[in-house]
Amino acid sequence: MGEMPDIDVKGLVKRYGDVVAVDGLTFAVQKGEVFGMLGPNGAGKTTTLEIIEGLRTPDAGTVQVLGTDVIAHPSTVKERIGVQLQATALPPFTKVREAVQLFAALYQRSRPVEEVIEEFNLGEKADAYTDKLSGGQMQRLSIALALINDPDLVFLDEPTTGLDPQARLNIWTVIEGIRKRGKTVVLTTHYMEEAERLCDRVAVIERGRIVALDTPRRLISQYAPGTTVEFANVPGLDVESLRKVPGVERVVADGRVSITTRKPETVLHALLDPSAPWVPAEGADGDAGGEGEGAIRDLMVRHGTLEDVFLSLTGRSLRE
Ligand code: ATP
Repeated sequence: MGEMPDIDVKGLVKRYGDVVAVDGLTFAVQKGEVFGMLGPNGAGKTTTLEIIEGLRTPDAGTVQVLGTDVIAHPSTVKERIGVQLQATALPPFTKVREAVQLFAALYQRSRPVEEVIEEFNLGEKADAYTDKLSGGQMQRLSIALALINDPDLVFLDEPTTGLDPQARLNIWTVIEGIRKRGKTVVLTTHYMEEAERLCDRVAVIERGRIVALDTPRRLISQYAPGTTVEFANVPGLDVESLRKVPGVERVVADGRVSITTRKPETVLHALLDPSAPWVPAEGADGDAGGEGEGAIRDLMVRHGTLEDVFLSLTGRSLRE
């Protein structure tokens, strides 16, 4: 308590012509925190990051980074922050080791090149051209480059966008490692599971504004409380009488049926009753079926997620 935050943003505004990309953001990021900015494309995440990094000037507001006013002194914090650049920012015909050497030379203080290559599991690719790397290798390289100056504060802009699940998991492990070393991390993402797994706190951003900011757990308990009971939809299922089952708060039926409830035991008990009125009449779906098992197949019970939070806050899904 009382310690100065690593980032302190107040009343930030950025306009591009008529577009208000950032519309009055105020937040602080504490030392050692993994802070997520979550929002759909165009929400203003990248613009906000670039202002904090000293790469863009806001139209209004103040930004303190590691105790320095970055608007007045944009180059002062450069030695102490790490910025993950997009893959396209690398010069052409650069090999992995050369890229790491190039970035190391940009700083007064830098980590040993070979050590960083090993740490990011790029040893086998050290002599490969960077444009021949896989998506996951390229992301590992760009994060390695962001850490070459051993910064206190690291910015990662959509570190896993476009990666397959295995490569994404690898990057998550990398980010968890950065966190264990006590660094402060700010990351943008539009992947819910990523924010939920990695972030201590998440700012949910929509149209340049923060619509909610808290730990994933508290966001979920505030905006997506309760349990979702899901199962495969079947022809003839009577959704209307399902809505009348005690404890059922909301029913959404498409390919699957999703029931929101704060009384999952009551709802499950009712669901599994084969004589319930909403179970399709025997043979209603045309096949002989009718083993007396009711209509429930592929039953799944899950807690609310940040996806549900976003939906409940904005009425929109984050998925593109
Ligand atoms: P993404 O996830 O797609 O990167 P984002 O949340 O990072 O989205 P920004 O890139 O910050 O969003 O963009 C916010 C808004 O500002 C968008 O409407 C975008 O079109 C606009 N914008 C961003 N940069 C510029 C620019 N240089 N000139 C004009 N408009 C811009």
